[in-house]
Amino acid sequence: MNRDKSNALYEKAKNYIPGGVNSPVRAFGSVDKAPIFVDRADGAYIYDIDGNKYLDYISSWGPLIFGHNDPEMIETFKSSLEKGITYGVPSYIEVDMAQEIVKAYPACEMVRMVNSGTEATMSAIRTARGYTRKDKLIKFEGCYHGHSDCLLVKSGSGTLTFNAPTSLGVPEDVIKDTIVCTFNDIESVKSAINQNKDQIAAIIIEGVPGNMGVVPPCPDFLKQLRKLTKDEGILLILDEVITGFRIAYGGVSEVYGIEPDMVCFGKIIGGGLPVGAYGGKREIMQVVSPLGGVYQAGTLSGNPLAMHMGLKTLQRLRENPSIYSDLEAKAIKLEQGFKKNLSDLGLNYTITRVKSMISFFFAEGEIANYQDVQKSDTDKYGEFFRFMLNKGILLPPAQFEGLFVNTAITDEELEYTIMCHKEALRAIH
Ligand code: PLP
Repeated sequence: MNRDKSNALYEKAKNYIPGGVNSPVRAFGSVDKAPIFVDRADGAYIYDIDGNKYLDYISSWGPLIFGHNDPEMIETFKSSLEKGITYGVPSYIEVDMAQEIVKAYPACEMVRMVNSGTEATMSAIRTARGYTRKDKLIKFEGCYHGHSDCLLVKSGSGTLTFNAPTSLGVPEDVIKDTIVCTFNDIESVKSAINQNKDQIAAIIIEGVPGNMGVVPPCPDFLKQLRKLTKDEGILLILDEVITGFRIAYGGVSEVYGIEPDMVCFGKIIGGGLPVGAYGGKREIMQVVSPLGGVYQAGTLSGNPLAMHMGLKTLQRLRENPSIYSDLEAKAIKLEQGFKKNLSDLGLNYTITRVKSMISFFFAEGEIANYQDVQKSDTDKYGEFFRFMLNKGILLPPAQFEGLFVNTAITDEELEYTIMCHKEALRAIH
């Protein structure tokens, strides 16, 4: 597959943009020398500037649950655009959007819109600290919650891929209050709480981590965490930036039957535009300015284009619940196909899946936490990625990410993916 134009543009881009990309996860640095540069996208496909076509399993890292250029979404965007781009004063669509989220998510009685998942988690933490008047925070190794300082500790996603799980530039003083525990290990949480009695404001967690690859929560882990936080007066913040409106309309909360005190959203709720949101119990959210003393603001927060796109997405998902079973069926088909390929070839790599979230690891045995995912052979993943790319299949360009299946991908395309997976495994072993 010829990628001369992308390769040349990469050389140019590196002069102007660090690493040539505006987000590290877009770099193919861990798996290939240059990323593809996109010209356009449509349905299940992305087209690069060399004219190559790729079946897209990134879906813009989650937001595009209906695939690219979905006609209803384009129509919504156009009609919103005709009403203006941004107002800087409240608009009716912000209230409709807030109501839609609150109706969808019982634990979220009030919600504030922001512009990204990073802003959502950062603001949720500040709110939790302001509400509890405590500073300490527990997060889990390998979970990624965006790039605000206090959360960039033993983080996941690009930080794992590029070997900076705890970022340079984050002062020791800022992270001294971030305590890191092991996912799926309730004892590690109990012990952290005991060592920091009455000082912990909140625990933040990706209920189903997608940022160290997909790691399924053990039965009861999330329930135990909910009980423990309640007993200890610690706020539980569910980071549903990936999982919200993806694994079910009500996210991890619905699937695992746990009600967090606070929740963070992003990705799908913007329908492809830059959006995040944080919310929670009314009593907690009332500490947010202008009601309370926790300050948080945003020039473009609640942007009407993003609200129209997000609201349309959520309404469609609510009105068509079969989307969730359809998406899961696609992920199951991939899972079964990949597992059969592995067994046909006498390989024992682990495939993880929760609902429509799926990952393949080049490691054997159980994948339950950060230590386990580290066993994966990232060089092998790189070879695999490159082989698939040359077959016209765009996977996440890093081991520590999940695939994002969308409604535009057809059965035939899934079968093609499974066939190429087998060829790839053969070629790299
Ligand atoms: N939380 C989770 C679980 C995420 O996966 C991400 C991004 O991938 C974020 C927060 C940060 O979101 P954003 O990239 O919109 O800042």
